[in-house]
Amino acid sequence: MREKLKDIRTLSIDSLRDFFIQNKFQSYRGDQVYEWIWKKGIHDFNQMSNLSKELRNLLINNFKINHVDIDFFKKSNDGTIKNSVKLHDGLFVESVLIPSKNRSTACVSSQVGCSLNCKFCATSKIKRLRNLNMDEIFDQVILMDKQSRTNFNRSISNIVFMGMGEPLMNYNNMIAAIKKITQYRKFGISSRRITISTSGIPKMIMKLADEDFNFKLALSLHSANQSTREKIMPFTKKFPISDLLESLNYWYTKTNRIITLEYIVWDNINDKLSDINDLINFCKKIPSKVNLIQYNSIGDDYFKGANIEIINKYQSELLKHGINSTFRRSRGLDIDAACGQLANK
Ligand code: SAH
Repeated sequence: MREKLKDIRTLSIDSLRDFFIQNKFQSYRGDQVYEWIWKKGIHDFNQMSNLSKELRNLLINNFKINHVDIDFFKKSNDGTIKNSVKLHDGLFVESVLIPSKNRSTACVSSQVGCSLNCKFCATSKIKRLRNLNMDEIFDQVILMDKQSRTNFNRSISNIVFMGMGEPLMNYNNMIAAIKKITQYRKFGISSRRITISTSGIPKMIMKLADEDFNFKLALSLHSANQSTREKIMPFTKKFPISDLLESLNYWYTKTNRIITLEYIVWDNINDKLSDINDLINFCKKIPSKVNLIQYNSIGDDYFKGANIEIINKYQSELLKHGINSTFRRSRGLDIDAACGQLANK
């Protein structure tokens, strides 16, 4: 029967105040409860110690608090921890905590599975079952913050939306979660330490540009050639590179923040000089830097990560045109926690 109750975390602070007023209590009780559920992260009404038994029972009879739990986790040799996170309806997503010298980065999922069909990504093999709710995104951050404090003695310092799913296809919940995280659980995190990674949905990038906080934008480009991009990311047939560029320009004009272009180089797909030139032309149109990502195999023969000589060639050609690039080595490879490997294994 409790299943039928409303999840209290779907209520705004105003609705919570109204609830108490309708039940003949003072509205500030709503503020108290709000603080328990968001600031203190309590999942049990009986722990709300500044409420009387009567008030706690009123809540128990009217609401439930859905929350996520870490079902199990795997630790990589490099310290990365991959969590299998169980949602209230029994579905799973993965959240990865990535420690480095001075940081702890929480890599968060936004959807169960993914509706986009990027051929090189393990998550695309699971069809999209549903979007995560705002509190499910929030909870992943809280869980990893606790995990970071236990394992590395510090709070998380960065959040990246690079787990399962396409964050811009779950726009409202993602934004609401970021607002809650920065408002109630600062962890010393400003929105500038939050990166949203998208495979590139122009309309939503424009929408993002109109938000009034300062997060970073990363675009999974992988090829600046329309026909190549369509082959490896078929959904981009609907979103041509020209539209993408237009939306990125809008983003830059509005935010003045440069965009990180995520880019994997594969043999026989985008390893030619013409591919490098396409990328250079793209970068000339939009203030950006390039993050060359090591390819993590998902067991498909078609995709083979290019060797270091090709990567070096990319970097030196980009540099000739004044474009900065980095080559990112993957973390958590031994536990399938690296980019593109999240598939509930
Ligand atoms: N949907 C979002 C966020 C998830 S993926 C996006 O596409 O940006 C996070 C990053 O990992 C993206 O840049 C994605 O292209 C990259 N990625 C996907 N599969 C990969 C793989 N097998 N090896 C390395 N990186 C991969």
